Amino acid sequence: MRITVLVYQSPYPGPNGATPGYLVETRAARILLDCGSGVLAQLGNHTPIYHLDALLLSHYHHDHIADVGVLQYGIMVHQLFSQRPTEKPLPIYAPAQPIANAQSLPYKQATTFHPVDEKTQMTIGDIQISFLRTDHGDGDPCFAMRLEASGKVLVYGADSGPHTKWKGFADGADLFICEGTYLDHNKPKEPKGHLSVREAAQLAQELACRSLMITHLYAEYEVEEVKNQAKAYQNGPCHIAQIGLQIEL
Ligand SMILES: [Zn+2]
Ligand SMILES: [Zn+2]
Repeated sequence: MRITVLVYQSPYPGPNGATPGYLVETRAARILLDCGSGVLAQLGNHTPIYHLDALLLSHYHHDHIADVGVLQYGIMVHQLFSQRPTEKPLPIYAPAQPIANAQSLPYKQATTFHPVDEKTQMTIGDIQISFLRTDHGDGDPCFAMRLEASGKVLVYGADSGPHTKWKGFADGADLFICEGTYLDHNKPKEPKGHLSVREAAQLAQELACRSLMITHLYAEYEVEEVKNQAKAYQNGPCHIAQIGLQIEL
């Protein structure tokens, strides 16, 4: 399984940046995880959009879905140009709430909507996928994703506060992509729905994950500062998300 960080920034893209999107590729599947602002511009460096097998959306905050509309246009145009069959729409797997967002996902023959929740177990190509609701948002669900292929496990933590119940879902993952939205200097007194870099590192250490990627970072963060505050993680490699970073599991 190869994971490519298309982009990682939040809540808005920095200069030449973009907000979250990750490409997961195996021998039998090519999946996009989240589709933030500027993701398509990065995706084109790695694969034509008409080769995607599925899009998985963790939740409907703008930093994770901003490019869905242009992805729909892109698939539609490639169907028109016969580069993708019209009988092969791009399936979008996403939460069922808010309903208005879910209703925007089917588009002509280009995309279809498939609701997911914590009970969903599905297979795309050779990847088995399950979901965990995270501590995030004001009532509307956000789902982390566990992807397993050829004995390797990737957990994409999406957006998450400290009350997510990771045990039994993320423990021992070969790679845990975990958000570290805050550094020490800008962590709110009562943080809600997000983790700091320090908390992400401690969490991955407690869960005995084999490697960690810290993501969902403000564009202006210095990599060295993020690394310094992630020192609690000692189990394996600690990656700081960067545009184009690739990890093979
Ligand atoms: Zn969010
Ligand atoms: Zn976010």
